[in-house]
This record gives sequence, structure tokens and C-alpha cells, in this order.
Amino acid sequence: MHDVPYSELRTDPLTGDRVIVAPGRADRPLPLGGSAERPRPPRSDPTCPFCPGNEAETTTELYRLPPGEGTGWRLRVFANKYPALSASVPREFAAPSGPWESEPAPGRHEVIVETRRHDLSMTELSDSELFEVLRTYRGRFAEAAADPQIKHVVIFRNQGPLANASIFHPHSQLVGLPFVPSLVARKLERSRAHSTERATLLTLVGQEVEDSSRLIETTDRYATYVPYAAAHDHEVWVAPRFLPARFDHSDDGTLQGFGVALRRALAVVAEGLNDPDYNFILHTPPLLEHAEDVLPWYGQIIPRQTVAAGFELAVGVRIVQTRPEEAAARLRTALSKVAGV
Ligand SMILES: [Zn+2]
Repeated sequence: MHDVPYSELRTDPLTGDRVIVAPGRADRPLPLGGSAERPRPPRSDPTCPFCPGNEAETTTELYRLPPGEGTGWRLRVFANKYPALSASVPREFAAPSGPWESEPAPGRHEVIVETRRHDLSMTELSDSELFEVLRTYRGRFAEAAADPQIKHVVIFRNQGPLANASIFHPHSQLVGLPFVPSLVARKLERSRAHSTERATLLTLVGQEVEDSSRLIETTDRYATYVPYAAAHDHEVWVAPRFLPARFDHSDDGTLQGFGVALRRALAVVAEGLNDPDYNFILHTPPLLEHAEDVLPWYGQIIPRQTVAAGFELAVGVRIVQTRPEEAAARLRTALSKVAGV
């Protein structure tokens, strides 16, 4: 018989959500693999709708670099062919009666193809290419935010089939929502209630830096760490150490600094966890007045090592089997191998 380590309940100070840290489950192998086990894709794929030459297979183009036409682009943005939200509202909408609530779902759903190369990962983009991607995030965010119907914008990327990417070609997505999701509203409410002089997240980042047990690395502007109540095994945050402007008002230096920290964080995750599939989420405050003063934007990387199962679906509580301190220690050991990234 072996001693099973105690499980622990941790509370995320930003959301109030509790998470179960169950190191006793650590003997269970984290079962899911990633791209390390798959053959590297070709530089271009004639069957890929996002590859140069197949522009006609995508819907309305919204932006490209450099501006122009044809197949000589470096980056393209277009409307998602299978959008989660409609571009326009129907003239007539029959609301249901009884207890049912329903309303039209206008919004935006865009695809940002980050590079013409089919085979690259985000960590393989050059400094200037990654900067172009972040500037495009900023520009598309600004355009969505200018739409009075949109109350919240989320930018994310799904890397690999386990992260629900249906197309390999490197791309991100932007969704503009006509409402503030309850999780985001809760983060804002709690941040407003707790904030004194500093935004709650900045206080937390300061404490993560000071404590250092979950820290991976820092620059003078950003901290990369596994949060205290991480809801996913080996989850990593790249958070600012200063109060940033609203994401679409960020200056170039802010984006460049974030890009460098983000790429290193992605490289550390790839190196330390055998290139897992992952989701990257750019968390931004909702488009409500002064929300950015108390809830700064930050990046989150979620390696897809487990899938939500019956327990999580039943009660909405996540179980992680790697203590965040151990996750950070493992990722710190990968740092030396990504020194040049
Ligand atoms: Zn492609």
C-alpha cells in the first residue's frame, strides 16, 4: 500500500472558482499526446483552404498584409465560414413564449491566418511575423469594439486536434459577442470589489513574482507562471506587471514585449510537455467603461492533457493532478533549452 498525497481545494482569487488539486491521481498517466507524435505537415498543402492559391475557398476577406490581391500575402483575415454568431440580425424574430428566453445572436467570428506557411507553429514565426499577428489582433479587436452591438471580444487559437483545431494551417480566431459572458462579468465584479489602488490581477502577479514557486520567468513588463489555482494541468499565464491600456489601445512596444514573452512561454510548454496540443486565449475585459482599469488583459496557455469528464461536467469543478508548483518546476527545467527563442 502506498501513501496517497492529500488532495487540496484551491480558490482562484480572480473568479472565486474552486479547483481540486489531486496529486494522488498523478500516477495516472496524462494520456493525451500532441504534435510530437505526428509527422510534420508539408510547407504547403493544396487541399488546405487557408493555403495561398485557395483564397476563393474562404469567405469575405476582411484584411490582409501586405494590402492587395492575389496569392502573395503574408497574413489574411476573413469571416469564419461556419460562424458561431450571425453577421446581421433578422428583421423579424419570433421570441418564444413561456419560460424560454431567446434573442438574435449578432456578432463576429473571424479567422486570422497568421502566416502563408502551412507547417509553422507560432513559436517558429520570426519576431516581425509574430508582431504582425499581434498588431492584427489589435486592429481586428478595435474594429469589433467599435461595433455597438459587441460587448465582449475574445481572441484565441486552437493548436492541434485535441484543442479542437479542424484545420492545421496556423490561425487564430476572434469572436465578438453581443453580451458579457457570466465568467467575465464575475471576474470584473470581483476585481471591482477587491481593487484598492492596484488591479487585483496586478496584485496577484506581484505576489506570484515575489513567491516565485510557480514562476517560470519574468521580464520587467511581463510574468510567466502557473497560477496558484490553475484549473488545468500545466496551465501557463503570461500576464503584465503594469496596468496596460485596453488591448486595442496598446502601443507597439507593449505588443512586442508581450509577443516575446508569449513565444517563450509557448516554447517552454512545447519543450517541457512534448509538444502538446493547446489552446491560447487572450483574456480581455468586457467592453464596459473603465473595465480595463481593474481587469487587465493577459494570455493563458492551456495544454490539452486531459479532457473534461463526467465529474467536471456534473459540477463544473476542475480536477488537476499536477500541483501548480510541480508544474512550474517542470516547465522551468525546459527554460534552458529554449534560451534562444
Ligand atoms: Zn495551409
